[in-house]
Amino acid sequence: MKLYLDFEPCNECNLMMKELSSPEMLLADDITRSNESAKFLRHLTYNHNEVVQAIMKDLPKQKRDQEFDFFK
Ligand SMILES: [Zn+2]
Repeated sequence: MKLYLDFEPCNECNLMMKELSSPEMLLADDITRSNESAKFLRHLTYNHNEVVQAIMKDLPKQKRDQEFDFFK
């Protein structure tokens, strides 16, 4: 799942996003990559509550859209 969010990344965010998109990480195995993504999400949870709230607000809408497709 890819999320495009409008928020102000702090230094730590920028560092982690740089790591996540580094050539080393693109070549890393799935476990390493998911660990790094989880670390970033944890950081967002604890330090950027507004981002988490934006995700939560979006989720039910996505679910409704999927259900709508399902019943078409
Ligand atoms: Zn941050």
